[in-house]
Amino acid sequence: MVTHNVIVVGGGAGGMMAAIFAARTGANVTLLERNQKLGRKVYITGKGRCNVTNDCTIDEFMREVPRNPRFLYSALSYFTPQQMMELLEDEGCPVVVQRGRRVFPATEKASDVTRALEKTMRALGVRIVFDARVKDIVLADGAVSGVTMMDGTEYAADRVIIATGGLSCPLTGSSGDGYRMAERLGHTVTPRMGVLSAIETAVQWPGELQGLSLRNVTLTMKKGKKTLYSELGEMIFTHFGISGPLALTMSCHLPDDIKDAQVTLNLKPGLTEQQLDARMQRDFAEQSRRQLRNVLPGLLPARLAEIFPRLCGVDGDKVCAQITREERETLVKTMQALPIPLEKLAPIEEAIVTRGGVHVKEIDPATMESKLVPGLYFAGEVIDVDAHTGGYNLQIAWATGALAGTCAAEAPIG
Ligand SMILES: Cc1cc2nc3c(=O)[nH]c(=O)nc-3n(C[C@H](O)[C@H](O)[C@H](O)COP(=O)(O)OP(=O)(O)OC[C@H]3O[C@@H](n4cnc5c(N)ncnc54)[C@H](O)[C@@H]3O)c2cc1C
Repeated sequence: MVTHNVIVVGGGAGGMMAAIFAARTGANVTLLERNQKLGRKVYITGKGRCNVTNDCTIDEFMREVPRNPRFLYSALSYFTPQQMMELLEDEGCPVVVQRGRRVFPATEKASDVTRALEKTMRALGVRIVFDARVKDIVLADGAVSGVTMMDGTEYAADRVIIATGGLSCPLTGSSGDGYRMAERLGHTVTPRMGVLSAIETAVQWPGELQGLSLRNVTLTMKKGKKTLYSELGEMIFTHFGISGPLALTMSCHLPDDIKDAQVTLNLKPGLTEQQLDARMQRDFAEQSRRQLRNVLPGLLPARLAEIFPRLCGVDGDKVCAQITREERETLVKTMQALPIPLEKLAPIEEAIVTRGGVHVKEIDPATMESKLVPGLYFAGEVIDVDAHTGGYNLQIAWATGALAGTCAAEAPIG
């Protein structure tokens, strides 16, 4: 039997899984990681708790992938979220399913996930080399023959899997090396931007509310008459704009020119306009001698109530008895559609995932092998796919890694 030499470039989520599956399939596997430990990004996922996958069906999963979902069908069928959960359980890392079917290690420690995977790799005989930054892929007769390192050394290989991640949080090791290697081999790398990203606003007032989080609000984004996004949930104001689950997910649906996005926030989505108006009339009648700014906290969080009259162009010092009908209508309408003009995404380094990457048309979805370079495979965020929050991005890395690892180990040489 011929044993393949498989090199995995990058020991993040996709690379670790690729190494495990290639070794299970019988390959001689070397994993090269530029850091001194594995999974530095996995370590910070889910605020250190690691939302490792989502316990959903493949069809449900696809709905959470705004970019190139069909490309992922084979990988997700090959290694499902439920198989990931089983793998972790089998390797001594029990998992729990929480709200929204988000799956976490029972200990809620991301380091336990990496530890379990490292133990599995070592048990399978994977050779793990740290401080090993790959510079380039070496070809012989047009096919992969190894890699060169930054320090000039070379490793021979029959198959190479690039699992170098995206561009966010470069301190974790993912700084775009895989894109450069792929481009030098003739691959198209689509433009990259950070998604699941906080958004800078074109107005200053969100900064005045820095740290204020809102629950049960609806964030809506339109381009012209078309609604691009509208969800009920939670968000938070930051010193430069908006963040939190609603804003992060909305960032996946932005139009090409962010200035075309018309974003509004409904602070009272549970009430109709008439109900809100009636409620306001009642509050104003009951507290007719109090200033508007002191009455609004009955409807809004105190810090927002303080600046809300200004956002509506109404004098907050007025007593309620003096508020005109037109002013009340403005307050009601703005409370249900507060405009939030957007400026730009936060820097890509601060995003959760990278949109863009190696073009999916140049990768065989059934194997993750390059269609341009025999013996070259891709796994994880380096590929032009991304998904919403909820454990989907890690599952994409696990699944593409598992498929790439198996196929790299199985494919006939030459
Ligand atoms: C703050 C934050 C929280 C997140 N939380 C979640 C979450 O809870 N759930 C979820 O599903 N997703 C989450 N994500 C997204 C998820 O972490 C990524 O999608 C996933 O880690 C991608 O896996 P990957 O293997 O492609 O890349 P990475 O995990 O980034 O791994 C890439 C590896 O390659 C190594 N590398 C890079 N270049 C080289 C080179 N030239 N030579 C050798 N090694 C190299 C890097 O050091 C790194 O170890 C989060 C992301 C961030 C930033």
